[in-house]
Amino acid sequence: MAEKRDYYEVLGVSKSATEAEIKSAFRKKAKEFHPDLNKDDPKATDKFKEAQEAYSVLSDEQKRKMYDQYGHAGVSQGAAGGPGGFDGFGGFGGGVDVDLSDIFDSIFGGSSGFGGFGGFSGNRSSGQRATRGSDILMRMDLTFDEAIYGCEKKFKIDVVEDCSECHGHGGFEREDCSTCHGRGTVTTQQRTILGAFQSTTTCPDCGGTGHTYKRKCSECNGKGKVKKNKTITINIPEGINTGDRQRVTGKGNPGSNGGENGDLYIEFLVDEHDFFIRDNDDIYLEVPITLTEAILGCKKDIPTLYGNVKLNIPAGTNSGDKQRIKGKGVDNKYRRHKGDMYVVFKVYTPKKLSREQKKLIDELADTNLETDEIKKFNKFTKEND
Ligand SMILES: [Zn+2]
Ligand SMILES: [Zn+2]
Repeated sequence: MAEKRDYYEVLGVSKSATEAEIKSAFRKKAKEFHPDLNKDDPKATDKFKEAQEAYSVLSDEQKRKMYDQYGHAGVSQGAAGGPGGFDGFGGFGGGVDVDLSDIFDSIFGGSSGFGGFGGFSGNRSSGQRATRGSDILMRMDLTFDEAIYGCEKKFKIDVVEDCSECHGHGGFEREDCSTCHGRGTVTTQQRTILGAFQSTTTCPDCGGTGHTYKRKCSECNGKGKVKKNKTITINIPEGINTGDRQRVTGKGNPGSNGGENGDLYIEFLVDEHDFFIRDNDDIYLEVPITLTEAILGCKKDIPTLYGNVKLNIPAGTNSGDKQRIKGKGVDNKYRRHKGDMYVVFKVYTPKKLSREQKKLIDELADTNLETDEIKKFNKFTKEND
């Protein structure tokens, strides 16, 4: 099946369209493609549904926000469950061997799709159309190290697959449906306020396939699909960051009428480190130094993501002075980019001194330690008086 079209494109409005513009655009499309007005055009129903789906998302402030940010995955039938969207489900802690079936049952339970709009007797001739299942978005917590160095993660998830017993048919010994005589649709008379309408709907007995089976498959209870709790293993590349996503093909919600499963997207949330601060692929590290180290300069072992390095700290270093260590940032295999590391010095002045130290500092204070900046500032103070 083709990729889903952009919702704004479906309604023919701009991304900045107002609520009123969206409403009016949908009204126009609904009139144009309404199944009752397009009995000869089988594609009209699909277009009508497409517009309906687009409107249901864009007319809802919360859903529209999610869609703008995450695209179709953000408002897939599963994820769009309630306000709050993705935030509704927590990450799965350690990730390894966590049974997610509970979470999935509560959050992605229904696959009823977007509700119809009042007044339209929907479901016309949609029975035979193969529809791809919606995508699922999950969030996964990673430790700082797991994200930097890459890792393998295992987790359990319920996946709906074709029943192996009946090969997805739901039964054995196929025959024409006796209700619709193989057509897949039935025609009925409907009486409404506006008069009598003849309408064609999906056959309720065969679900639009036009055939039934003599013996129902007991393995899947005739559904053709079975839910299996599967262990999924994913390899997370080095350098992944918060907000990055990985796709697991075919592990989303099940499709209908032979449509393939949607995909599972995993969005990562990376923990912070006690010392290293990550800014995209650059790493910042605050290095505390003593007063004398700052004045005299020194050589120091500095931790990096890839082992310690010796660093020359020059004499006269101030708090806030920065030094770049090239290529020692994140080696990001996901974005194919290597960051740098920045060491930021902070001078820690002791609050307590021994008598001996105090004496030495007093002697030092008697010498002139004023730098050009201090002299300049003192001059300004005097003039300002
Ligand atoms: Zn079966
Ligand atoms: Zn039938």
